[in-house]
Amino acid sequence: MKASPQTQLKLLELAELDSELSRLDHRRRTLPENAEFERAEQRDAELRDELATLEARDADLTREQAKAERDVDQVRTRIERDRTRLDAGQVSSPKELENLQSEIVSLGRRQGDLEEVVLEVMEQLEEVTRRRGALSDERAELSQRRTGIGARRDAAFAEIDEQTGKASDQRASIAAELPGDLLSLYDRLRAQHTVGAAALRHGRCEGCHLSLNTVDLARIRAAPPDEVLRCEECRRILVRTSGDG
Ligand SMILES: [Zn+2]
Repeated sequence: MKASPQTQLKLLELAELDSELSRLDHRRRTLPENAEFERAEQRDAELRDELATLEARDADLTREQAKAERDVDQVRTRIERDRTRLDAGQVSSPKELENLQSEIVSLGRRQGDLEEVVLEVMEQLEEVTRRRGALSDERAELSQRRTGIGARRDAAFAEIDEQTGKASDQRASIAAELPGDLLSLYDRLRAQHTVGAAALRHGRCEGCHLSLNTVDLARIRAAPPDEVLRCEECRRILVRTSGDG
């Protein structure tokens, strides 16, 4: 393939823009804000789940508390009724009297147990309320942090996009000046190596950074200036520059 030395030098400009574009693409994909944002989203999802569980637990405990309180009331009412009967002297048979007294005692124990249950449930409810508050606070704080991360990420994206736009425009105008067959060879090589052309400087290919042996260098020196050469090592288009040595 043939191309004038000036045209070949344009390939180096194209290669530089392509490295720039792939650097920008890499930077966009590996922005620390991406991972930070993702971690914040993950934590938020965890908090949301945990809060939903606590909310359900709160509803269960509230029901439990109401039931235990109803039970206490029931027992208290029965004790009062028994006491009233006792105080009114309505019970005359000693056997019945004994039964009534022992019922009052056992109902008293039952009331004590049920009041314990109410207290226990109330303590659990307090703990659930405290935990819900702490998680809600964390979620609010996280939401603010996420907004900050999102803003930083978007600013970085905007900057990268602007630079990418500029480099792409420059690339398009250089590519438009190149002959079709040379450009398609370059693009094919670029698909394999990210960058399709490299300079030869001081006897070294700047694509693979290997120094050429004397035989290859002599062959390159003997080649006509408009011949398109390839690096024997990396197969990129090798562009001769003023510093070929
Ligand atoms: Zn090379």
